[in-house]
Amino acid sequence: MTERQLSGSVVIATHNPGKLAEMRDLLAPHGIAATSAAELNLPEPEETGTTFAANARIKAMAAAKATGQAAFADDSGLCVDALGGDPGIYSARWAGPDKDFRGAMNQIQTLLVEKGATAPEQRRAHFIAALCLAWPDGHTEEFEGRVDGVIVWPPKGTAGFGYDPLFLPDGHERTFGEMTADEKHGLPPKGMGLSHRARAFVMLAKACLRA
Ligand code: IMP
Repeated sequence: MTERQLSGSVVIATHNPGKLAEMRDLLAPHGIAATSAAELNLPEPEETGTTFAANARIKAMAAAKATGQAAFADDSGLCVDALGGDPGIYSARWAGPDKDFRGAMNQIQTLLVEKGATAPEQRRAHFIAALCLAWPDGHTEEFEGRVDGVIVWPPKGTAGFGYDPLFLPDGHERTFGEMTADEKHGLPPKGMGLSHRARAFVMLAKACLRA
């Protein structure tokens, strides 16, 4: 199967400034200019999917249809094993309309303590990122990346966004919140991709972007 190539420019279907900055950084080395759905005043579609992939597809397709341009969306979240995969696709919603991630992190810790999950092996978690490139004719290319680790307490570090200070990736001694963006993503040529988003992006770049 031949994947469709992306060239020129793309609409990034997000209203999240943290994600927008990360996606712009990822696309820039490939000569892809990006405008965001927020900059174009596009409405945010309702994320009615039951999987990360379905929600990424909903967002990318909505932006592609609205603009007539190729669009790129990510849907991602933190899945905690002892909480049955929560907050999962509801990761953003757990922080509420005020984007209170301190509160959402507290909620995760409270639930883990209620379950007696205090040892690292009881606190396994992973981030997932589903990426979707969509074109106005309905064609999509889809990729999924994952990074495994442990939920630490208290949260550590002030870098990144969302649940970064809570997540210690396997094989590392600092949380995502304590890493620079370069360390968190670990992209080639320096690394093979560390974050879930970088891992999915490495797959996407290989399939759909010029070097
Ligand atoms: P959505 O993909 O916009 O629905 O929301 C994903 C949510 O998952 C974000 O708002 C964060 O709460 C969380 N999340 C996803 N990726 C990351 C990450 O790299 N670091 C920290 N939190 C993340």
